[in-house]
Amino acid sequence: SAMRDSRIKRTKTVCTYCGVGCSFEVWTKGRKILKIEPQQEAPVNQISTCVKGKFGWDFVNSEERLTKPLIRRGDKFVEATWDEALDLIHEKLGAVKDKYGADSIGYIASSKCSNEENYIFQKFARAIMGSNNIDNCSRYCQSPATAGLMRTVGIGGDAGTIQDIAGAELIIVVGANPAESHPVLATRIKRSHKLRGQKLLVVDLRKHELGERADVFIRPNPGTDLIWLSAVTKYIIDQGWHDEKFILDRVNGFEQYVASLAPYTLEFAVEKTGMTREQLVQIATMIHEADGTCILWAMGVTQHSMGTDTSTAIGNLLLVTGNFGRPNAGAYPLRGHNNVQGACDFGTMPAWMPGYEAVEDDKIRAKYEKAWGVKLPEKPGLNNHQMIEGIFNGKLKAMYLFGEEMSLVDSNSNHVENAFEKLDFFVVQDIFFSRTAQYADVVLPAAPSLEKEGTFTNTERRIQRFYKALNPLGDSKPDWEIIQLVANRFGANWKYEHPSEIMAEAASLAPVFAGVDYERLVDWNSLVWPVAADGTDTPLLYKEKFAFADGRARLYPLDLHDPMFQPNEEYDLHLNNGRLLEHFHEGNMTYQSKGITHKVPREWLEVSPELAEERGLESGALVRLSSPYGHVKVRVQVTDTVRGKELYLTMNTRDPERAINRLTSSYHDKITHTPNYKEMHVKMEILEKN
Ligand code: SF4
Repeated sequence: SAMRDSRIKRTKTVCTYCGVGCSFEVWTKGRKILKIEPQQEAPVNQISTCVKGKFGWDFVNSEERLTKPLIRRGDKFVEATWDEALDLIHEKLGAVKDKYGADSIGYIASSKCSNEENYIFQKFARAIMGSNNIDNCSRYCQSPATAGLMRTVGIGGDAGTIQDIAGAELIIVVGANPAESHPVLATRIKRSHKLRGQKLLVVDLRKHELGERADVFIRPNPGTDLIWLSAVTKYIIDQGWHDEKFILDRVNGFEQYVASLAPYTLEFAVEKTGMTREQLVQIATMIHEADGTCILWAMGVTQHSMGTDTSTAIGNLLLVTGNFGRPNAGAYPLRGHNNVQGACDFGTMPAWMPGYEAVEDDKIRAKYEKAWGVKLPEKPGLNNHQMIEGIFNGKLKAMYLFGEEMSLVDSNSNHVENAFEKLDFFVVQDIFFSRTAQYADVVLPAAPSLEKEGTFTNTERRIQRFYKALNPLGDSKPDWEIIQLVANRFGANWKYEHPSEIMAEAASLAPVFAGVDYERLVDWNSLVWPVAADGTDTPLLYKEKFAFADGRARLYPLDLHDPMFQPNEEYDLHLNNGRLLEHFHEGNMTYQSKGITHKVPREWLEVSPELAEERGLESGALVRLSSPYGHVKVRVQVTDTVRGKELYLTMNTRDPERAINRLTSSYHDKITHTPNYKEMHVKMEILEKN
């Protein structure tokens, strides 16, 4: 057996699924994945993993992996060589650029790909192709959290680390389901709650696992988080429970902010949110009594027409109570994809260069122009939502997208797919022939994380290296190599031989990454940005200063909003949606992993016992849900996790005809254009009773 063991290779990697950022060793023999073995040295998870991290890797050997470039011929795709595919991209994208200008092309980056890959993709779009039309899927999820934190404290990231979450006296979870979406992080909360008496308050439409365990669980009316957050803040100030010294020393705008809170009385909040006065007072009291509060939130807050304002209200509440700049406290938007934080950090956004330096700032552009030897476009580009509208109004003619299932993940998929059909030219780069790839003219085969090197940044802003366990399958290539090949066809003359060289360039340009260096990230080492040139990192933000020129935070007054939609006679049920523990997003990877699919083969619709009785439904019934934008057919699960006229559909599906985004609209948060996926009403027709 010694001989057999000697052929086993152990490689440190970082999980490809959620933003918690677990790392572990993967044991391989040839292309076979033998096991995932977590190690005590792993900074986030030590010896824990969840079902996805442990069993979700078969997809790398799936027969459905793309192994050759594909070129569209009429309705079919034919295999091509890399040269043929690259020549065609150069010819067609070049022709669109010549005819309609640089801004007639849109670029969609990937939260599944590395920091280095996102960095060179934005460099390609900006420096080589001359456009800021670049975005990533954070637009669909956490952009409102980023925007809300940029208004109040200045950095769109978690205030501290998972260690701070574990150490807080009070955890408030709003519109997030960590036990399924961020399982290992949830384990830390469960442990602190059980062993240390950490208090847990959960506010959600749906009683998920943490809701079951919480000391206090409250169900507000849909879309009213902004109101209860503001009313609780007002009550805290009215009681004199705010942190006066902290506000005086470190926060601007207190007086105007207090004035803006006038409408948010407890009476008003009771009327709008459906919470009781006692519940609102209880929340305020719990925050007042806790020595350190962390607020965790995700899509249940952000995916609303007032997602940015509600995230801002969270920032305001934490500022008023002095819960920033100290351990075991602060704001924690929970990042979805393993590298959605990194994709944003490394500049795949229309208004931001890497490290959140503004595209519109002349000095910043001058720095990059000098380094890259080009002239850069001055105005922010289109975001992914505006790109789709741009296709309809004739401004956008071509797109280049990698590692993003946009046709299922953007809201109102029928609308998005109609747009893709209108493109003159569409390049899709992925590990699978995705739904989106069906609309492509050229499909490029990419390699997943196990087949390349790079870094990912988790929800804590922690940068970690992953190493290569396997060779790229067939003719597939790491995304950074592909992007370099495409760029060089357009005359870039790049010669990156390893992702570490790309990171070194990013570190030399973006001050927040100044000390990020592959040598400092060897094996289990990690760095939490901002990282000073000497390698000092920043697990806890705002210790001395907030991230504004004067170093002071800003309380941000908010206007009152009602939810954008109310139920009506036809569309009488509110439809919420979210993730499942076992699957990830559209399931392109997890449904290809047998270890997972045999446990959970498909999605379902949760219906409350009250509604099931009213409509004569049982678990297993087949229903059709319709919105003004489309319909889906799904099986029912009757459960008291939801109540009344609330429905909940798991978003992870293998079948595009059952995807939640057949139903969602193109309405969005007014600041960030994040679709309001959670603000939706539908009607339900019964097709089979059980
Ligand atoms: Fe991967 Fe997230 Fe599970 Fe950790 S918690 S193993 S990062 S999916």
